[in-house]
Amino acid sequence: KNDLVCKNIQKEYKGDGVTTIALKEVDVTFREGEFVSIVGPSGSGKSTLLSLIGTLDSPSKGTIHYGDAALEKMKAKALADFRFENIGFIFQQYHLLPTLTAIENVLAPLFSRKVPYKKKERAEELLASVGLGDKLHSLPSQLSGGQQQRVAIARALVHQPKWLLADEPTGNLDTETSEIIYDILKTLNQEQGCGVIFVTHEPELAARADRTIEMKDGVIVKDSRSVVHA
Ligand code: ADP
Ligand code: ADP
Repeated sequence: KNDLVCKNIQKEYKGDGVTTIALKEVDVTFREGEFVSIVGPSGSGKSTLLSLIGTLDSPSKGTIHYGDAALEKMKAKALADFRFENIGFIFQQYHLLPTLTAIENVLAPLFSRKVPYKKKERAEELLASVGLGDKLHSLPSQLSGGQQQRVAIARALVHQPKWLLADEPTGNLDTETSEIIYDILKTLNQEQGCGVIFVTHEPELAARADRTIEMKDGVIVKDSRSVVHA
C-alpha cells in the first residue's frame, strides 16, 4: 500500500535556551489519493506537520513512510529525488519567478532534471486545466493573485507527484477566488489522482474536504475519519 504513515512524530525547535515542541508524538495515516484539510489556530503545528510530510524538514523523533519508502533512511540526495518524484507544494505566497512567463514558471522545476521535452505539452495541458490556456505567455505581474496561484498549482503538478501539499493556498485570496482554487484542487485530485493535503483558516472550505484534521498545541484533537483521544 502507498499510504503515507506518520508514526509518533515529534518536532522540537531549539533557540535561545528555549525549546518549542511544535508537534507532540503525532500518529496519522493518509490514504493514497485522499483529499484532506488541516485546520487549527495559529501556532498549532499545521505548517510543521506539512513541512515534515513534505521532507522540507525532519522530525526530532518518529518516522514517516510513504508506502515502502522510509524517509528516515534516506540521505539528502535520495530525499531530494524522492521529493521531486512524489511531492508538489503550494504556499500562501505564489513564489513565481517574476521574469518568467506562466508556462516557463510551470516548466522551471524541470530545468535541473533530465526530462523529455514533451513535458512542454503537459505544462500546456495543466495550465489549460486550471483555466489559463490563454495566459501561457503572460508574466506574473500581468496576472491576478488567483491566476498566479493557478500557475503555482500547475507548476507543483508538472512532474506528476503523488501528493500535493498546500499551506494556506487561499490565504491571500477573496472568498470567491478561494472557491475557484478549491474547486481546481478538487478536480485535479480526481483527474490526476494525486492526494491533496491543505492547511486552511476557512472552516467552510475545510469542511468540504473528504477528511478534516484539527490541530491544537502540536497534537491532532479531531480527525473526521476516526475518533482521536487528545
Ligand atoms: P501553524 O502552522 O499551525 O501556525 P507552526 O507549525 O508554524 O504552526 O508552528 C508551531 C509552533 O512551532 C509555533 O509555536 C511556532 O512558533 C513554532 N515554530 C515553527 N517554526 C519554527 C522555527 N523554525 N523555529 C522556532 N519555532 C518554530
Ligand atoms: P503559517 O502562516 O503557516 O502559520 P508562520 O507565519 O507561523 O507560518 O511561519 C512562517 C515560517 O516561519 C515557517 O516556515 C516557520 O518555520 C517559521 N517560524 C514560525 N514561527 C517561528 C519562530 N517562533 N521562530 C522562528 N521561525 C519561526
